[in-house]
Amino acid sequence: MKFEVTEHPNPTSGERIAEILQNPGFGTNFTDHTTVVDWSADAGWQDARIEPYGPITLDPAASVLHYASEIFEGMKAYLHADGSVYTFRPFANAARMNASARRMALPEIDEELFVQSLEVLVAKDKAWVPASDGEALYLRPFMFGTEAFLGVRPSQTVTYRVIASPAGNFFGGELKPVKIWVSRDYVRAAPGGTGAAKTGGNYAGSLAAQAQAAEKGCQQVLFLDPLHENAIEELGGMNVFLVTNDGCLLTPELTGTILEGVTRSSIIQLAKDRGLTVEERRVGLEEWAKGAADGTIVEAFACGTAAVVTPIGELLDGDQTITMTGDFSTTLALREELLGIQTGKVEDRHGWLH
Ligand code: PMP
Repeated sequence: MKFEVTEHPNPTSGERIAEILQNPGFGTNFTDHTTVVDWSADAGWQDARIEPYGPITLDPAASVLHYASEIFEGMKAYLHADGSVYTFRPFANAARMNASARRMALPEIDEELFVQSLEVLVAKDKAWVPASDGEALYLRPFMFGTEAFLGVRPSQTVTYRVIASPAGNFFGGELKPVKIWVSRDYVRAAPGGTGAAKTGGNYAGSLAAQAQAAEKGCQQVLFLDPLHENAIEELGGMNVFLVTNDGCLLTPELTGTILEGVTRSSIIQLAKDRGLTVEERRVGLEEWAKGAADGTIVEAFACGTAAVVTPIGELLDGDQTITMTGDFSTTLALREELLGIQTGKVEDRHGWLH
């Protein structure tokens, strides 16, 4: 599809962009443009365009404002030494967006169009891609129902957009093991629910638990499986892995209540490439606590686009604490290899870069 371009009438100066890229933070600054494609039940996807970044107009009765008909994606574009910019496995994000669309009764988007929508925005706002190690341009594709109708039914008009934001380390500053809070009061997802979809409501629903975590000095929440007592699922915005002392990675299996991370599946591949065993299965908190105590589980880490791979140092479950005492050597090696591939410093043997 051809994207019509409307230039930003008053683009950010080179000096201001440089100032922002000095310390990009996470999710606070946005590039000058946004990609837009509209959909209607009658006409399908149409009117692909690039517009200046700015507020959008919505009817107060728009479906998204009442019934949360919204899905999104998150991925990064990395600047390589030769000045080119690569995204990482964007077709995996396209496929996940469409899986979310099917679950939330939103229209699927052609995978090529999805990837093209990223390409045109990155090409337009290339000056915003940070050059420092561990930094990238975070891309946020999202889709929402715009139909002005208060009946509960799939929106007959939908907008898809991509915005971009320069991003540094998600947890701020240098890489330090994070503290995680086990949510006992709140559940993220149940079988048949929307846990495997990347939809806004899942995140709104996680905020009360996240607030409890923050009160306890933790950076993220670990959600448990509501049907299998004490089985771990995932964090509010990341998947979880444990590493055993005999070179095995454990991660909860995908049962329909967990978001299938692109980072998760990449880590599984890289671990197997290294000769590590990967077990995708139910993992219990008792197993984690016992393994941490007797030295059979030596590392734990969170992984996702924003956090890449981040060591988990402590897990707080009420007044019990599990402390990880390993050196995080496997965690850090996997992190370095993944970041190396993403930034063009390690051979892309799986053809993940685009
Ligand atoms: N789980 C949840 C709930 C998430 O929001 C994310 C971030 N998209 C992930 C896992 C990790 O997914 P990815 O590796 O694709 O970023």
